[in-house]
Formats: sequence, C-alpha cells, structure tokens
Amino acid sequence: MTAGYCAWHDGPADDVALIVVHEQGSGAGSGAYACLPCARPMVGRWTTSRYAEEAIAELEKRAASATTAQEAGRA
Ligand SMILES: [Zn+2]
Repeated sequence: MTAGYCAWHDGPADDVALIVVHEQGSGAGSGAYACLPCARPMVGRWTTSRYAEEAIAELEKRAASATTAQEAGRA
C-alpha cells in the first residue's frame, strides 16, 4: 500500500499507482499518480499504457486484500 497524492482528484489517497498516459502527438507520454477510483475508468483506453494497466491491476489486488483484512478484523 502506497499512501500518496492523486493527481486526478487532486488530493490525498490511501493507495496510488503511477499511471503513464500517451498524449496525442508525443511519443513518451507523461506519468502521474492516481488512486484506484480515478484509475479504474482508465483501463482499456488507448491512452493508458500497458504498464499503467498493470499498476492499476496491482491497485485492485491491494484494495481487495485490504478489504479482506478489514473483514477479518471485524470477525
Ligand atoms: Zn483519485
């Protein structure tokens, strides 16, 4: 889990991933950190790099395991 700052909703987040998007007319693309709710809709878009999709998948996994841990704590 990487607490950090989400550049999409412009605020702190419990967990973030580095998302690299391809911008029209530039080869390199640019990166910024996004939280899972902001990153999830980017999956499947042509502007989202493969590495970003992997980073989002890792976010999903961490969010799922965090939920499981919270449920175990309540039991
Ligand atoms: Zn966000």
